[in-house]
Amino acid sequence: MLNPHRCYNPERMSISFHIDASSGKARTGRLLTPHAEIETPVFMPVGTLASVKGVPQDTLEELGAQIILGNTYHLYLRPGIETVRRMGGLHGFMAWPRAILTDSGGFQVFSLNELRKVTEEGVMFRSHLDGSSHFFSPESAMEAQIGLGADIIMAFDECTEHPADHARARASMELTLRWAARSKKYFEEHKHEVPWGNSRQLSAVSPQQEQIPRFARNDKKKEESAEGYVGTAAAGCPAERSSAAQASLRSPGQPGAAVPTQAVPTQTFPTPSQKTQSLFGIVQGGMDRELRKESAERTIEIGFPGYAIGGLSVGEPRELTREIVESTLEHLPADQPRYLMGVGTPEEIVEYASLGVDMMDCVLPTRAARHGLLFTSEGKVSIKQARYAQDPGPLDPTCGCRVCLRYSRAYLRHLYASNEVLAQVLNTIHNLSFYLDTMRRVRHSISLGEESGFLSSVGSRPKP
Ligand SMILES: [Zn+2]
Repeated sequence: MLNPHRCYNPERMSISFHIDASSGKARTGRLLTPHAEIETPVFMPVGTLASVKGVPQDTLEELGAQIILGNTYHLYLRPGIETVRRMGGLHGFMAWPRAILTDSGGFQVFSLNELRKVTEEGVMFRSHLDGSSHFFSPESAMEAQIGLGADIIMAFDECTEHPADHARARASMELTLRWAARSKKYFEEHKHEVPWGNSRQLSAVSPQQEQIPRFARNDKKKEESAEGYVGTAAAGCPAERSSAAQASLRSPGQPGAAVPTQAVPTQTFPTPSQKTQSLFGIVQGGMDRELRKESAERTIEIGFPGYAIGGLSVGEPRELTREIVESTLEHLPADQPRYLMGVGTPEEIVEYASLGVDMMDCVLPTRAARHGLLFTSEGKVSIKQARYAQDPGPLDPTCGCRVCLRYSRAYLRHLYASNEVLAQVLNTIHNLSFYLDTMRRVRHSISLGEESGFLSSVGSRPKP
């Protein structure tokens, strides 16, 4: 269903979404972003600190990862937004040429519990690293995400805790709506400040060649205080700050400069000309179906090129998660991408794809891998178990990943038991491969019109 209230101009969009095939509620499509074309439904590996833990970027490419996530809160604290921005954003900084999505920092901030204070203006919080005080507002969260330069960025929202009574869930939803409007306003005014035009090869840039967007003219306060502090974004006149920032940018590797002179990769990445990032809205409303409906409708009125369902997987029963997802999806535009944040198991990502979700992310495959929990076509394998000590077989006989083609269960068990770093690397590669393969099979099934077939054939069943 097309919504007449959407007020963005498609001609100016830097994202487009095409549905190729449908099967029941499920659909396959292509999401065109400035850095990559993404086949949907897609699973997005989480690279919290500009790194999918343990997996080099070339291996992620080999696995077929089309888009990965970065976490604004973590990157804001380390290495700081300015450092990333000067490197041309996350793409240049982490040498990842495909698509990136960043969250707004809201979820991480709200996970801090005792360390935060919410007001209409934003959230005051303490760093989990050193206890230092920081402030995120919709505006500063947008500024941070523009500096990080992901293809898709997220509105600043309040993730409602669970359980929450009706009044609390409504108040939280209303706050998220006001913050969504402020997020969009700031984004529209500043979206051309995305650092994609900045060269990664800063050491080779001459002053004449240097193109520093107005935004790049750094707030001196940021240099003097904690790196990447974005709370003072609105203060001061950009022109007054420009000379110090340019001097600093022209002197990478100098004492105090954040950007090293050495080891600048020679590889370059295509810069998407005239493109900007895309800002997605987030539907909240707790576990109340009516509030979710209202949140969806009013977020759509504000107008975004894609919509996320947030505030789930916060401790509620899985049945309830599914119920809220299914009912919320009914109120989201069918012709725009739908992103379910923070799920799930292999079975769950298949199920949500079948309900019409286009994008998902979860730390589960990477985090579980580091704890020796592996997803296979034969069910979950806890590789630490003694039963695998003499097992010469591959981890998953049907998996074609580089780990399963080369190593035995006995070796993987040995690496894990010996606390070898390689255990985390190999386990993570396999788990990501399993998730990405699962979504590949889901897309294939949908394109063949197998409405329910893939639900039973895909997933990680419990090991007998
Ligand atoms: Zn494998």
